[in-house]
Amino acid sequence: MTAHDPSHATTVAALKSEVQRRLTYTIGKDNASASPRDWFVATALAARDRLVESWLASTKRNYVEDRRRVYYLSLEFLVGRILIDTLTNLGLTAAMRDALAELGVDLEKLREVEPDAALGNGGLGRLAACFMDSMATLDIAAMGYGIRYDHGLFRQTIKDGWQHEYPEDWLSFGNAWQFPRPEITYDVGFGGHVESARLADGMLAHVWVPAETIVAVAYDTPVVGWRGRHVNTLRLWSARAPDPLRLDAFNQGDHVGALTEQVRAEAISKVLYPSDATPAGQELRLRQEYFFAAASLQDLVRRHMKQSGDIRKLADKVAIQLNDTHPAIGVAELMRLLVDVHGVDWTEAWRITQATFSYTNHTLLPEALETWPVWLMEKLLPRHMQIIYLINAMHLDGLRAQGVSDANVLAAVSLIDEHHGRAVRMGHLAFLGSHKVNGVSALHSELVKETVFRDFHRLYPDRIVNKTNGVTFRRWLLEANPALSGLLAETIGPAVFDDPTKLVELERFADDEAFQHRFMAAKRANKDRLAATIFDSVAVRVDPAALFDVQIKRIHEYKRQLLNVLEAVALYLDIVAQPARDFPPRVKIFAGKAAASYHQAKLIIKLANDVAQVVNADPAARGLLKIVFLPNYNVSLAEKIIPAADLSEQISTAGMEASGTGNMKFALNGALTIGTLDGANVEIRERVGDDNIFIFGLTAQQVEESRARGIDARETIATSPRLAAALDAIARGMFSPDDKHRYAQLVDTLTYYDHFLVTKDFDSYCAAQRRVDARWRDTKAWTRAAILNTARVAWFSSDRTIREYAEEIWKVEA
Ligand SMILES: *Cc1c(COP(=O)(O)O)cnc(C)c1O
Repeated sequence: MTAHDPSHATTVAALKSEVQRRLTYTIGKDNASASPRDWFVATALAARDRLVESWLASTKRNYVEDRRRVYYLSLEFLVGRILIDTLTNLGLTAAMRDALAELGVDLEKLREVEPDAALGNGGLGRLAACFMDSMATLDIAAMGYGIRYDHGLFRQTIKDGWQHEYPEDWLSFGNAWQFPRPEITYDVGFGGHVESARLADGMLAHVWVPAETIVAVAYDTPVVGWRGRHVNTLRLWSARAPDPLRLDAFNQGDHVGALTEQVRAEAISKVLYPSDATPAGQELRLRQEYFFAAASLQDLVRRHMKQSGDIRKLADKVAIQLNDTHPAIGVAELMRLLVDVHGVDWTEAWRITQATFSYTNHTLLPEALETWPVWLMEKLLPRHMQIIYLINAMHLDGLRAQGVSDANVLAAVSLIDEHHGRAVRMGHLAFLGSHKVNGVSALHSELVKETVFRDFHRLYPDRIVNKTNGVTFRRWLLEANPALSGLLAETIGPAVFDDPTKLVELERFADDEAFQHRFMAAKRANKDRLAATIFDSVAVRVDPAALFDVQIKRIHEYKRQLLNVLEAVALYLDIVAQPARDFPPRVKIFAGKAAASYHQAKLIIKLANDVAQVVNADPAARGLLKIVFLPNYNVSLAEKIIPAADLSEQISTAGMEASGTGNMKFALNGALTIGTLDGANVEIRERVGDDNIFIFGLTAQQVEESRARGIDARETIATSPRLAAALDAIARGMFSPDDKHRYAQLVDTLTYYDHFLVTKDFDSYCAAQRRVDARWRDTKAWTRAAILNTARVAWFSSDRTIREYAEEIWKVEA
């Protein structure tokens, strides 16, 4: 639609009056007194109004056609902002911009007013959000289930280089996108005991009598797919006490005590990732997991019974995807519902459960594989513990009957870990309770078979499959990068947004000088914008003509921000020592949050900031290297940074990044990757071609061998003078004159216990960076490679990923 299109004019006029009406009648303000937030809410509500009919129609059609449904259970949904996404999917962005302009309001300003829905930590939660977008786009009857946290991921500030955490407050001005459903509530029990009764047929029936009940209240957010054709629901649960207060206590003057039950209940949906450093924190986390799994299962079973009336047909009509092990307690809960509540016999209940669930594994890190102490499970969920014991006994009996007698194998596949004070292994429960288990990249899925689920894989060789992650191109290209999207639409046609495989048509233009020029002009416009954001945020001036070298993601030792910082130090020392050498100007951009209790990661943030301070202020660096750490990384900041990146840092220790999705967003936006053969980098390289990516470092296999030989790095450091010099500079306090020993221990760890093999990969990484420099100097060659990256990564659309889940795991039509 163009501005001259008469239907455009009609839409603009209609939107204008819809926004105006919302401002007047919902917000209750006139134009003169309305704040930008008021305008945002009015605009969001007008946009929301536009999708409600399609939403109701989608919901109705799901019923009428009795469609098979997909339920995506995830403790995290890292959605980000919703306004532009909704307008884009409805095809209303241009019309809304014009309508607001007529009202004297700038849509771009409103965009910045919306708080991020940050109900997740990082990649796993963002994946869930991309999947919601793709499921709606592909017209799959799907529902996402999660928790409506009052406070999402903490807000990060940087003070004197250190991370500080503040509560995030996304709901403080209401939430224009949600529909509260106070009538949709479920009781979720905790604690108590199990009563058994012998039935007439001699069988035992079990009834769980919880000691405590929490009420789960539904809040729905419509999720609209591309072109607004299908709208799904994200249903998030909020926790509430059955009674708002204890009136007797209140009337006796105990005004605080009267509220304790309410406070205790509401704690469940208060914050994302309560610290599990204390026993109370651990218990709260398990309560969260059961709370949302139980509410979601009751809800979907109710819907199924209303529709089909036969619980035994559940697996015919329902597929439940477990996003990691957080909702794995759902396996035991569904067994309880089937056996205890609906009277299905155990064997059939187990068949239904396995046929219904499937599970996505996201990590091989042993410390990240959830287990719950048996005593805690018995205390909070006594009936579920019994069910888990019975599942386990039947599972192990079954294996013995098949001739598996090796005690080590049986101990390895037992649901109970007997070594560490008896704990329930949630990954094992999820594996056993599912018909399919998937890893998230080709490499990761193979490693899942060889490591965490090695013994299971031998016993069930068909269960583990691969589903390489993807990202939604609507958000990460069309919305985040209008400059490039506009160029693509002009060059290969707007149909590319319906079918990203058309991106390959760009290959023809990779050497076309005029197109190269326009491609780089779009990049440059994005870099200008980011340079302004950087100045506003951290008051550092950067040259938009410099190479923008970006590493943005959670701060974690395995992601190796430290390797990047060390290389920056070595480069700085080189620049200062070799004034005659020609170094292409670089801006190193970091962003990311460290878990509040992760001291080493927080120290890495401090180091990056300390190094930045010295380098940026040193005239001897001649502006050839600038380093910035942008605070409060979130989806909205990623949307600003990624389109402006020239180089994408994906440098995890091989074998440790399950997939990565940041890597895909960057390549799509024409950044070249410098990376290890880890996660989906492997598949990105296969598609963009060896010449258009900078691969370095040990392979996953070599990492394993190297670790087996020992992680003492003294010999490695001795053979690398640049590494030795960089470590020495840090250890001597060159970047921490106020506290010369700040990094002594960090350098010691790298020297004696280099578990993440930073030192081993250092020289190879530096060599790859010099190859980057050489390519960057050749603008045509760089631009060609950048274009080919965009042209060749269509496969990483989450639409492709979801099609694969639909076909091979969920058995639904996309
Ligand atoms: C994509 C994304 C991630 C995941 O990034 P990785 O580099 O794959 O770890 C994390 N956080 C946000 C905000 C994202 O947009």
